Amino acid sequence: METLLAKLAPPQAAMLRAISDHTRVTGAAVYLVGGAVRDWILGAPSIDDLDFSVDGDSVGFVRDLQREHGGELLVHEKFRTARWVCQGASVDVAMSRAEFYARPGALPTVSPAPIEVDLRRRDFAANAIACRLSDGVVVDPFQGRRDLEHRLLRGLHEHSFVDDPTRMLRGARYAARLGFAFDEGTLEAIQRGVPHLRALSGERIKYDFELIFRDREPAAALRMLREFGVFGALGVPMPDPDKLDERFARIWSVFTKGEYVLDALDLAPDRLLNAAGWGALIYAQGQLAVRRWLELAPFEHDVREALIAAGALSTMSAQMFHAPTSRQSALLHDFSGLTLLFGHLFDGSVLKRRAIHCEWKDWRWVRPTINGEDLRARGVPPGPEYRRIFDALRDAWLDGRVLSLADEQRLLDEILAR
Ligand code: ATP
Repeated sequence: METLLAKLAPPQAAMLRAISDHTRVTGAAVYLVGGAVRDWILGAPSIDDLDFSVDGDSVGFVRDLQREHGGELLVHEKFRTARWVCQGASVDVAMSRAEFYARPGALPTVSPAPIEVDLRRRDFAANAIACRLSDGVVVDPFQGRRDLEHRLLRGLHEHSFVDDPTRMLRGARYAARLGFAFDEGTLEAIQRGVPHLRALSGERIKYDFELIFRDREPAAALRMLREFGVFGALGVPMPDPDKLDERFARIWSVFTKGEYVLDALDLAPDRLLNAAGWGALIYAQGQLAVRRWLELAPFEHDVREALIAAGALSTMSAQMFHAPTSRQSALLHDFSGLTLLFGHLFDGSVLKRRAIHCEWKDWRWVRPTINGEDLRARGVPPGPEYRRIFDALRDAWLDGRVLSLADEQRLLDEILAR
């Protein structure tokens, strides 16, 4: 336990200690399960998520903890799961359970069951290892530890990916992140599951793709999905594998080097990475790709609009970006920040990307210093003429024909004289 505590952030370590103490006092059968056990055995330097399985009343167990230590509880009564949030950290506590799938791709119905049965419903043997908190006993009915040693992902039964095809998306994510291979039987089981992908809700597909986008090796995971035939089964165009590498490398480089003003997009980091991932898959792939993805996945409004508008941005000829600055800015001015980000990340034209960068950083802020009051004072009757004058002055600033307030006044005089 001490080696695990050392891998956790302090608030989470405190939660694990509290759970462990409570287990000892009450005698409850509580197990650490899933990714934390896997990563602990693999010797990962740090562990972020803790999942527990309680053989018994999971919600009662976690309610007691909250009463004693404070924090907040988010309870999902139907599945008897709860998230306990305390001092900025959280842990998930579930009832040890059996799952039953009424049809492929559906959400399962659940009933209480011992830990050995709970482990049977999991995705891969490497994720189906439990560690009892009271005494550290490891429950490993599918030889998950052996798989970890051999760096192998093995599904638990031949219908696993028919029951829940999202497991192949999860599998590709783990294989890419951990550098694991699938065993032969699992690859066959995945092939059996592929035709059932269409039974999943768009919400679940979107969720698992976004986990891939935010994980360590998105391009490698997506290439695996391509090989499984996932894109064909979903009815969306297949991404070009070389482009995937290039595009995710570009996201990484732009996001980490701070060369683009991302803050101004006002998006939380996770949402930004999700959106960039969709852009990487869809930008410049043609109208059909956009339409198919929009039919499939329930995108947030801003992402949806940006993906649609990116069609127009991606098809603009690069030649147009040899024009004067005011003209280039006018071409880009009406695109949303997210659409411009897609262009900056993924457009093939360096010239267009440079213009997008300038538009986002500088050009869009350029305004004439003269305002409506000044024009009224000069006797110009209010009307559409105002906009034309402001635009002419703005263009002159952008193109360097006006460099000072005196220049601007002179140009205004000329315009009014006309
Ligand atoms: P990560 O390292 O990405 O956080 P994790 O293994 O902790 O991975 P979670 O999504 O937190 O993944 O799920 C916790 C555990 O629940 C998994 O390790 C796995 O045992 C099980 N699990 C989650 N989703 C599924 C699924 N669709 N089918 C079967 N088991 C699942």
